[in-house]
Amino acid sequence: MYPWVNELLLWFDQHQRLMPWRSEPLPYYVWVSEIMLQQTQVVTVIPYFERFISRFPRLEDLATADLDDVLGLWAGLGYYSRARNLHKTAKLIMSEYEGVFPSTYDGLQQLPGIGPYVAAAVVSIVFEVAVPVVDGNVLRVFARFWGIDDDIRLPKVRVDLFEQLSPIVQTCQPSQFNQAIMELGALVCTPKSPSCPTCPLAKECYAFNNLCVPALPYKSKKAPVPHKTIAVGIVRKGKRVLIAKRKADQMLGGLWEFPGGKVEDGESIVAAALREIKEETNLDVCVGEKLIAVNHAFSHFKITIHVFMCEYVTGTVLPNSSDELRWVRVDELENFAFPSANQRIISALEQSLL
Ligand code: SF4
Repeated sequence: MYPWVNELLLWFDQHQRLMPWRSEPLPYYVWVSEIMLQQTQVVTVIPYFERFISRFPRLEDLATADLDDVLGLWAGLGYYSRARNLHKTAKLIMSEYEGVFPSTYDGLQQLPGIGPYVAAAVVSIVFEVAVPVVDGNVLRVFARFWGIDDDIRLPKVRVDLFEQLSPIVQTCQPSQFNQAIMELGALVCTPKSPSCPTCPLAKECYAFNNLCVPALPYKSKKAPVPHKTIAVGIVRKGKRVLIAKRKADQMLGGLWEFPGGKVEDGESIVAAALREIKEETNLDVCVGEKLIAVNHAFSHFKITIHVFMCEYVTGTVLPNSSDELRWVRVDELENFAFPSANQRIISALEQSLL
């Protein structure tokens, strides 16, 4: 075993954090946790994971669950395609794999929503398959440790690192090695201000010993993210408001929202609210006061949602561009799964009614 691997594993043994999926690394637990951990911090994931597992303790419980319940438990975590793929994959494993998780790196990647990173994490942590995990954290650690100065956004750098780590992960327990590197990236070799003096890799670290830690890793600048302006109406009729369920094949499919849509070039936000509500619901409304403006960032674009209180005037609801439209009381909104940006709208609505 390489001396630095030994140091790393000793450090992990003493410093690893307690995580609910670590105490009992069943394939189902590790898979759910790794999907939740994509784009999301451990501290945020833990309560979501615990609620999810207590509601769906076994793979078969998830496979037979209603998608709305799965999305409801996911509300606030973002990237909802992860939840839809978890549900789809659970069904598939039950129907096509006799309820048994594939235990190979390639086999797992045949399943919806499982890419190389999650496949490597699951097979190494659960089945001790010697395959390295390579994500942004691992790239950062090794760019510094080995002095890799190529652009870490390049797929080639990821492929090269996978090949460099493959023989190393075979010299030790793969589950421990992979988790140790991920933990080191999260706790010590952090993006800003890494704690080099306490790092188990410091003795052999290229960046630390050459005083170039701030320069690594090198990451080229991202192209500017496009921005969209969205007009949304909270349409009231008596004590109820109108909500729409997004079509299953749309982005955020299966989640609920208030009707509205993109403001076109040259269009005012109020005119867009009237037009979108008419197009989506067949209703004529009167646009009233602005309730709130909410900024939200997705992976490839940003939005600002301008929300107006609207009064129903005339018309019969028709779900022209959603799976369903429903009139509900404000105190019933918590029973529906909304995307995270909408949670701030609901809070503002509740405040306005106090
Ligand atoms: S010594 Fe510093 S830069 Fe090198 S791996 Fe450790 S924390 Fe990262």
